[in-house]
Amino acid sequence: MRVPVSTEVKTTTCYMCACRCGIRVHVDEKDGRSSIRYIEGNPEHPLNRGVICAKGSSGIMKQVSPARLTRPLKRKEGSERGAGEFEPISWNEAFDLLEKRLARIRRTDPKQFALFTGRDQMQALTGLFARQFGTPNYAAHGGFCSVNMAAGMIYTIGGSFWEFGGPDLERAKLFVMLGTAEDHHSNPLKIAISKFKRDGGRFISVNPVRTGYSAIADEWVPIRPGTDGAFLLAVANEIVVQGLYDREFVARYTNGGQLVITDPGSPRHGLLATDGDADPVNPLYPQNQLWWDRHSNRAVLSHTPQADPSLFGDFRLADGTRVQPAFQLLADRLRPHTPEWAAAFTGIPAATIRRLAREMGVTARDEKIELPIAWTDCWGNEHRSVTGNPVAFHAMRGLAAHSNGFHTVRTLAILMSLLGTIDRPGGFRHKAPFPRAIPPSAKTPTGPEGVQPDTPLAGLALGWPGSPEDLFVDAEGSPVRIDKAFSWEYPLSVHGLMHNVITNAWRGDPYRIDTLMLFMANMAWNSTMNTVEVRRMLNDRGTDGEYRIPFIVVCDAFQSETTAFADLVLPDTTYLERHDVMSILDRPISEFDGPMDAVRVPVLPPAGECKPFQEVLIELGSRLGLPAFANKDGTRKYRDYPDFVVRHETEPGSGIGFLAGWRGADGEKSMLGEPNPAQWQKYAENNCVFKHELPPSYRYMRNWNRGYMEWAQRMRIRRWGEPILIHLYSEVLQRFRLAAQGRWPGRRAPERHAKRVETYFDPLPFHYAPLEAQATDLEKYPLAAITQRPMAMYHSWDSQNAWLRQIHAHNYLFINPRTARASGIEDGAWLWVESQWGRVRCMGRHSEAVEPGTVWTWNAIGKQPGAWGLAPEANEARKGFLLNHLITDTLPGATSNSDPVTGQAGWYDVRVRIYPADQTGVFPEFPVLNAVPGMKKERKKWLAYVAGKEIGE
Ligand code: SF4
Repeated sequence: MRVPVSTEVKTTTCYMCACRCGIRVHVDEKDGRSSIRYIEGNPEHPLNRGVICAKGSSGIMKQVSPARLTRPLKRKEGSERGAGEFEPISWNEAFDLLEKRLARIRRTDPKQFALFTGRDQMQALTGLFARQFGTPNYAAHGGFCSVNMAAGMIYTIGGSFWEFGGPDLERAKLFVMLGTAEDHHSNPLKIAISKFKRDGGRFISVNPVRTGYSAIADEWVPIRPGTDGAFLLAVANEIVVQGLYDREFVARYTNGGQLVITDPGSPRHGLLATDGDADPVNPLYPQNQLWWDRHSNRAVLSHTPQADPSLFGDFRLADGTRVQPAFQLLADRLRPHTPEWAAAFTGIPAATIRRLAREMGVTARDEKIELPIAWTDCWGNEHRSVTGNPVAFHAMRGLAAHSNGFHTVRTLAILMSLLGTIDRPGGFRHKAPFPRAIPPSAKTPTGPEGVQPDTPLAGLALGWPGSPEDLFVDAEGSPVRIDKAFSWEYPLSVHGLMHNVITNAWRGDPYRIDTLMLFMANMAWNSTMNTVEVRRMLNDRGTDGEYRIPFIVVCDAFQSETTAFADLVLPDTTYLERHDVMSILDRPISEFDGPMDAVRVPVLPPAGECKPFQEVLIELGSRLGLPAFANKDGTRKYRDYPDFVVRHETEPGSGIGFLAGWRGADGEKSMLGEPNPAQWQKYAENNCVFKHELPPSYRYMRNWNRGYMEWAQRMRIRRWGEPILIHLYSEVLQRFRLAAQGRWPGRRAPERHAKRVETYFDPLPFHYAPLEAQATDLEKYPLAAITQRPMAMYHSWDSQNAWLRQIHAHNYLFINPRTARASGIEDGAWLWVESQWGRVRCMGRHSEAVEPGTVWTWNAIGKQPGAWGLAPEANEARKGFLLNHLITDTLPGATSNSDPVTGQAGWYDVRVRIYPADQTGVFPEFPVLNAVPGMKKERKKWLAYVAGKEIGE
């Protein structure tokens, strides 16, 4: 007899990567049991419009992964960390244990608790929890991912790529992509590139490796890793020298026309000249800078009606102070950076650099777009149309993950601005809540007094320093945070430095901590540098016999190399089993034409005893009596996470919550409004997405668009309404430089950091060799080694997915045939790849799609035997390898292998040599990890999923 089966189609949001496409999940209900039949893209979702990728469809295999953790676990008494020996405990026991421990820490010294999360999408909640707990020691993955991209762009144009802005390929004619393989904004970008190419657009990819998007570029420009800054400086120089910059845009919308004090004897040297008698309007973002008016040949207030600033010149103010337009200083800085100069670093012929610069400049100048959209700028000028210069750029980690990445990314933002492409059709366009002020107004506490027992942190854990006064340091200038973020070592580390946490905590530098909680971060393997040593640190004990990091909590959906080091493991749900929000308070899914946020709703019940990490935080927050989660009488405020999302407001009565759609008691309001108890239901009925379309006149020129500014202030997306001039010249950086020179009226850099701050806090962009390259014998280690994320996998999550493993089950080192032959390495042979920090043995492949000075591999495919529910003899463990073993976390001089401005991890700076191996097999080797209680017992040789059923043997 056939058993009746009913198939239901449920909409939610994908999380097989961070793109957040809308999906429809077809679920069979049979005998009270739910199973997925298949997952498809949701054609009604504005982001992916029905498109789904291999990862998205393979979400099914995430559900049935043998690596699923299903029970809370406690490390077995007497077992060593790393051995992965656990016993199951109940959630109550786990919560009791955590409550007791965390309550003690909060009562005594909240910074002894550190919470670091990986590629989650709930930083609005995790950040709130940390702040309420009172610890400064909180960060997410950004510091080891792409903080240079965020910081370099936001400190220059007030916005950044991907979640906060991107290329307008709908109208661009020329698209230049740098340092991007196949990752962020995957499906939407693929859709856009495909249409762009069909419409006849020209696509240039500048990348050491031709994979992913680059494979379909019209022109691939191979470049040596870590030299993009040199390329961009030379292109920018050509644009200025050839007069191809958009003068009107530069004059009105950047600080290029503003006067900089160029008087080395003055304490204000390098700062913008201001009119002390004029109203600054907003002391945080003063509006009383000066132009040198070309018509009257005198200094006038910036943006005086009818005035036109000189971009070049050398002037004296009435009091004799010497000043120059910021643009003049930029042009002077760019001048020596000729294509010939850049060719020596980048490997790109000077003629190619010159040709590309000309193509960008001429396309921007001669193919202007005009849209019949009237708008008014912040100075009251009415414009009949919106115009644009159709050259669009996109860039990501390839530019960012170098210790020189901040200045590289700032150079890119400056080039985009010289071409006049910021928030204009065919160029770069912002996505709400950006643009933000430069720098954004969110700040951390500024000293140790901001951390007090039983008290929320007196500021945010992560912020945007605008001057030395905003650093989070003590009276001696030493860091308050365990990762040394916002200290003189890494002043603008706006995403924190998660990659330093374990090493710093182990060293007790700047202090020891008690409890480290990690969520979704594989810090004992592919998310850490110096892997072998970091694993030893996690298991190391002090002279008192206690672990140097006394207690480690890991919350994850899967068994990993890191869960093995936990004292307590909390099993998380998958994205198909929980509520989630992609909030405007965090990283929404906004598009160019207006804010968008999205949710996930459970389409399946949690496996075993899995609990969403969000619920863990709500429960802990309630038990600990944190003000945002508990009433004054100590009772809990929220039933659960969905209840929290609906009822939590940023301030009582603010009308702003995690979700912007269907607010107000009856769901009629959006963006602002009272909590709506039926909000989840409304999202579920509307493809789990909310979109607010801005009127056309608010969609462009948002840095300077009065209508948009007023709307954004009303919606409390922006706090301030002043125009956001592009910082071609960074006064923020100059403030730190003055502090390093002892000339800033406030805080001064301690002697030990002064030289470094003075060097790297240059208000104008510059190029320097990555710090690791500077500390390497490049004759001995001549090759750059980098990794990329494969198109079919996202971080370590998917390299255990039974369907996706059929695409990549192990990785090779890809080498240009010329380089390989010169080293005597045959295609497919085993070889040693060695840096000054260590060596690994792996298999190599010859590939023409990599420039000769670079070798590369896929990231995170190599696994510890037995980890991620894979059989110990799986290819991932026996043939796959991890390049991280070759990357140091500490450079000579005991500094972190990070960008000195932002703390961005220098993942792509390692230099190596290669030579044939006389043995086969992966090195280094690691012990086999056993399955933990709650994981599937038997490890099948193969695993398939057919018609809602898991099969295998
Ligand atoms: S691009 Fe990412 S979010 Fe979109 S379907 Fe693929 S895996 Fe899912």
